[in-house]
Amino acid sequence: MNTRAGLNLRGLIRTIPDYPKPGIMFRDITTLLADRAGLRAAIDELIWPFLGADIVHVVGIEARGFILGGAVAHELGLGFIPIRKKGKLPYKTIGQDYELEYGVDTVEIHADAIQPGDRVLLVDDLVATGGTADAAIDLIRKSGGEVVAACFIIDLPDLGGAARLRGKGVTVHTLVG
Ligand code: AMP
Repeated sequence: MNTRAGLNLRGLIRTIPDYPKPGIMFRDITTLLADRAGLRAAIDELIWPFLGADIVHVVGIEARGFILGGAVAHELGLGFIPIRKKGKLPYKTIGQDYELEYGVDTVEIHADAIQPGDRVLLVDDLVATGGTADAAIDLIRKSGGEVVAACFIIDLPDLGGAARLRGKGVTVHTLVG
């Protein structure tokens, strides 16, 4: 899609075939992040539906969700909360397992990061199957938070992740399908 600044975000994202393993088309946003107009436009497009939305925190998913989520939080004037892979956060945590193609992984959030009733915006770079974001939403809800929306630069609609998240009652905002 073209942004209101007239930029083609899709054209700034590089696709690497067979990374990290055969059959995966890896969407590499480092080229978008390195482009100052592209980064500005991507962040502007991610935040516009949430201006004035009475949100208290942005929650970003490791690792690319940290880069985007930090910028989104700054632009919205909000605090940032990280969701990390198991064992990376130093204080008491709450965890949530989720299924991978082969096996199980766990994401964690600090137990005191979200207060009951906090309205939060979830940010990551890409939604594929939706498994990672689904686990992040469960973590936020376990903490007593309300997920106002989940936003991503890229949606891979064939993998059904955005529909899966909407099925959990979450508003999904994506920029490139
Ligand atoms: P999923 O849990 O299947 O929705 O996968 C989403 C997570 O995996 C995100 O944190 C993405 O950064 C990463 N990911 C999954 N598929 C891709 C892909 N084709 N290209 C780049 N990142 C991906």
